[in-house]
Amino acid sequence: MKWYKLDTDELKQQLGVDDNKGLSSNDAASRLKKFGANVLDDGKKTSLLLIFLKQFQDFMVLVLLAATLISGLLGEYVDAVAIMVIVLINGLIGFFQEQKAEKSLAKLKELSAPMANTLRDGKWIKIPSSDLVIGDIIKLTSGDRASADVRITKSKSLEMEESALTGESLPIAKHDYPIKQDNLEPADQKNMAFMGTLATRGSGVGIVVGTGMKTAMGQIADLLVKTEQVVTPLERKLAELGKILILVALVLTAFVVFVGVYQGQPMYDMFLAGVSLAVAAIPEGLPAIVTVALSLGVQRMIKKKAIVRKLSAVETLGSASVICSDKTGTMTENQMTVKEIYLNQETVYVSGEGYDTKGSFSKKDSGTEDSSLDSLLLYGALCNHAILNKKKGKWLIDGDPTEGALLVAARKANITLEDTEKFRIVHEIPFDSDRKRMTVVVEDEDNNRFVITKGAPDVLLPRANYISDHGNRRPLRAKDQNQINHAIENMAEKALRTIAICVKAISPNQKLDDLSLEKDLTFIGLSGMIDPPRREVKDAIKECHSAGIKTVMITGDHAKTAHAIAKQLDLIPTHGKVLEGYQVSHMTEEQLSDIIEDVYVFARVTPEHKLKIVKAFQNRGHVVAMTGDGVNDAPAIKASDIGISMGHSGTDVAKEASALVLLDDNFATIKSAIKEGRNIYENIRKFIRYLLASNVGEILVMLFAMLLGLPLPLVPVQILWVNLVTDGLPAMALGLDQAEDDVMKRNPRNPKEGVFARGLGFKIISRGIMIGIVTLIAFITTYQGNPEHLRYAQTVAFTTLVMTQLIHVFDCRSERSVFARNPFQNLYLVAAVISSLLLLLVVLYFEPLQDIFHTMDLGLRDWIFVLALSSIPTVLFGFTKK
Ligand code: ATP
Repeated sequence: MKWYKLDTDELKQQLGVDDNKGLSSNDAASRLKKFGANVLDDGKKTSLLLIFLKQFQDFMVLVLLAATLISGLLGEYVDAVAIMVIVLINGLIGFFQEQKAEKSLAKLKELSAPMANTLRDGKWIKIPSSDLVIGDIIKLTSGDRASADVRITKSKSLEMEESALTGESLPIAKHDYPIKQDNLEPADQKNMAFMGTLATRGSGVGIVVGTGMKTAMGQIADLLVKTEQVVTPLERKLAELGKILILVALVLTAFVVFVGVYQGQPMYDMFLAGVSLAVAAIPEGLPAIVTVALSLGVQRMIKKKAIVRKLSAVETLGSASVICSDKTGTMTENQMTVKEIYLNQETVYVSGEGYDTKGSFSKKDSGTEDSSLDSLLLYGALCNHAILNKKKGKWLIDGDPTEGALLVAARKANITLEDTEKFRIVHEIPFDSDRKRMTVVVEDEDNNRFVITKGAPDVLLPRANYISDHGNRRPLRAKDQNQINHAIENMAEKALRTIAICVKAISPNQKLDDLSLEKDLTFIGLSGMIDPPRREVKDAIKECHSAGIKTVMITGDHAKTAHAIAKQLDLIPTHGKVLEGYQVSHMTEEQLSDIIEDVYVFARVTPEHKLKIVKAFQNRGHVVAMTGDGVNDAPAIKASDIGISMGHSGTDVAKEASALVLLDDNFATIKSAIKEGRNIYENIRKFIRYLLASNVGEILVMLFAMLLGLPLPLVPVQILWVNLVTDGLPAMALGLDQAEDDVMKRNPRNPKEGVFARGLGFKIISRGIMIGIVTLIAFITTYQGNPEHLRYAQTVAFTTLVMTQLIHVFDCRSERSVFARNPFQNLYLVAAVISSLLLLLVVLYFEPLQDIFHTMDLGLRDWIFVLALSSIPTVLFGFTKK
């Protein structure tokens, strides 16, 4: 269908949609059912069976299975079946872990899925892009990615960057009238916006004409490179470490077997014991547990309103040493209220709170009213896209809060929608953070045209040659300039954001050329609006400070406004510097790096400065978190170590570039995410410590016994049972541990540090040796060189090994001392330990299992002995930090 050839009426008729109301939700639902979801099919599906089988592909597990098979054939049925069952359960656990990891990753993807601004049942709502259907009316604003093929019906300077589809990186201006030519390529269909392309400027409205695989993008979807499996740096490091550990475990196991055979142990027994030991000692489950710990942490972050888009960010968060944060909306409420207006060389004070339209003007009350205040307010309301709505008795703004504030101020002077609707907007140059201004050309009922420009005063004043003085235009003199600058500073010192308003009359036939429109303007006045800091931000900044993290404010606002707010938030110390965008421009990256440690506020910056700021901090060795919301913020977000975007106000482009999305746009959420990131990393360290120390203990007890010419202290099923029960459950529970109290009092983790840094290696080895020694003591003292005691000694050794680990697991919760934390705080861990204990009692006392696990009943004296021995490693090391 050649949608670009139709005019709007034909389009609406063919697609069965009313452009005032959009589709009804019922109609949309039935279309969705009929035509399917608006998604590109990536054809990737892994079957559950395959994931299950994958659990057994590990080489040592295969050897174990083969060995069990052989022992089964040799008549050792009980052992064979027991080992098979254990391996199967192990596989099942691995399978469920992987499933869980997959599911939570898929859920994450869903949460960060793009939304589309759609007209349904007469209301503009945001729906997941996948729910879009043909006939839906959608709005595209600068920064949005088109989520379907759309025929544009209204374009306000809309420009689309179509490189994803056509390879052309220069944006294309889009219009809204039909094109009569035939056989146009997508690149030439200038009234269409295609799925996957990006609105870089202006805004537009259009009707969806193609969804899912039936879009231009869908036709080439097969050619698109699909997202590769992402592995986080930690997962990669652990995978590498895993390889080394496998080697070490294999060598040691081979050594155990060799010594055992040399000492006269039966070859076959030693072989099976060796293979079981290898399976137990090789931490094959480690990467899976890491992924689960990461994704569970990510779930916790979602509850705190932070969505992690890249799993690697979780680790990096713990190393963040600088947060560069936008001011407006992130540190402040983004609820603007005009408090002061400067015009005719005097200041008018405006009363009223928030977006409530009740309020008055000090000057009007004084009775010296003239029409210039009304004119300024009307201009502010005309150069404006915000819409005021009343919901549940409260006035709310739909649109830009800065514009909302101007609209509310106009309402306070009884300037209504009818007043503004008398004017027609014939042209618009949209606002963006680079230009810091917005212009409209309006036409009144008598066809008189004039330009209204509003924006940052320091940007507008150089474009103004005239000033309006009580309604009379006269040249703008140096004295006026000084007075205006003084007024700006006054407002800024009170933390008010300043917006200047300028106008110019033009003739109806003047060409609407962007360059000449914003010249020779007449300055009307200034609006100063307050945007209060968010309540929780001050404490969050303080907490970051004690965590060794510097907070830096980055804003497009005036330096003094920014400084005033930074002071209210205790963000800037007395010696702290405020740097302005133009100063950043004049410096090289190196010069900026030299002074950047003293800078706490960057004011009047444009998005391009952000990139330089990120690099300058990185040059100083910092790990930088950078927030952003606009299209032009994407490069800085990408270049930072942790790119952060805003869930509410962020554009699709910023979100796509970011690793973390703040659902509530709130600075305090960054702090919570960092805290969680630190905790997740610490938890991963905790279970690595636990698992490896346990494995070291298991290998050593076998090795020592062989060296001393003793029989096997543990039989293969016991070793595998320990691997399954004691190593598995408590390790998982450690992954869910709460943060230590001082987690935000330590300095950020050095991103270069290895997994075993900060004494972890020593802890693993020392505890491992102790676990091995006490188990061996348990064995030797009960065995007493008497082969008749063997089963009894093995039972005591097995119980001691399990109990030592179950006590030691509490030591792993803290980097300081086992007594530093309340053991009942982590109820998962308590539950895991109790269930391991119950399972131990079952294999010890349940008769049918005793033969399988080579165990026997233990008496009270045995237990006292076992418990005394098992506590030794934790008591011995529990007091030390080392
Ligand atoms: P940040 O979110 O990074 O703190 P900001 O919101 O403070 O940035 P911008 O939105 O880039 O910064 O605004 C910069 C300046 O542009 C403001 O100080 C104001 O003077 C002007 N400005 C802001 N919004 C508008 C608008 N809608 N129309 C015209 N001018 C605007």
